[in-house]
Amino acid sequence: MAHEFVLPLFLGSREPDEADIALFGVCWDGTSSYKAGSRFAGFAVREASFGMEEFSFYQQQSLLDVPFCDYGDLFLPPGQKERVLADVASAVAEIRAKGQFPLGFGGEHLMAYPLIMAAFEAHPDLAVIHMDAHADLRPELWDDPWTHATFLGRVADRIGWDRITQFGIRSGSREEWELAQAHGTLRPFTVDALAAHLKTLGDRPIYLTLDMDVLDPSLYPGTGTPEPGGITWDLLVAGLKLLKGHRLVGGDCLELAPHYDPTGVSAMTMAKTLREIILLAHQRAR
Ligand code: MN
Ligand code: MN
Repeated sequence: MAHEFVLPLFLGSREPDEADIALFGVCWDGTSSYKAGSRFAGFAVREASFGMEEFSFYQQQSLLDVPFCDYGDLFLPPGQKERVLADVASAVAEIRAKGQFPLGFGGEHLMAYPLIMAAFEAHPDLAVIHMDAHADLRPELWDDPWTHATFLGRVADRIGWDRITQFGIRSGSREEWELAQAHGTLRPFTVDALAAHLKTLGDRPIYLTLDMDVLDPSLYPGTGTPEPGGITWDLLVAGLKLLKGHRLVGGDCLELAPHYDPTGVSAMTMAKTLREIILLAHQRAR
């Protein structure tokens, strides 16, 4: 009798050499400004994925029809921020060199910086769509310009403010508010606002950076900086679905600190969100 041995990798993942889409954990939480713990996201999400259907009612597609792999979590030692950022950058460069769509997940939002930069190097006309409760635009936090609360400001410094559009933001400092107003980055998280923005982007390459705390913390309490007043799951899915057929060139899904949610629904929510993004990546325009 043949037995199936289940690897502790994301549900439905294949061997890397068969994959067009690459999932990998970037589970590090060294600058989390309030409650740390997103270093534990990787195992929690993979475990949750085994309680999830491969089939998406929303997109009428199954993960089993998509050639994607899960590389596992990158080894990212606690502390050692410079090394961690360099290691994420070199890992994503390797994944891109194989022609795979990179999708990083799990840890704090600073992990998006090297992922976005890699996308920008490959696609000089890149546009960044940022979904979050927080603006993440601070010039510095406690004298440090490189944190999960500042990373998007550093992205803007490098690639230009006009490439960045933010949805769902409901928290930030006065300085962040003024920066966002000066550069016109803020939009409400509505289907209409997202659809209108995507129309202006046309076939430009798009990077999606998704901080899961954009969801209301009553739905997603497993995160380090919960902010009341967030969006619903239905709205997140409706917003993501609008990306179908656009030229997605990379993405991330970050900020799960699973131990703050003993029900496990937050880990499940990230797992289901990753399923939806993998299905979107499979249907991306090339
Ligand atoms: Mn964030
Ligand atoms: Mn946030």
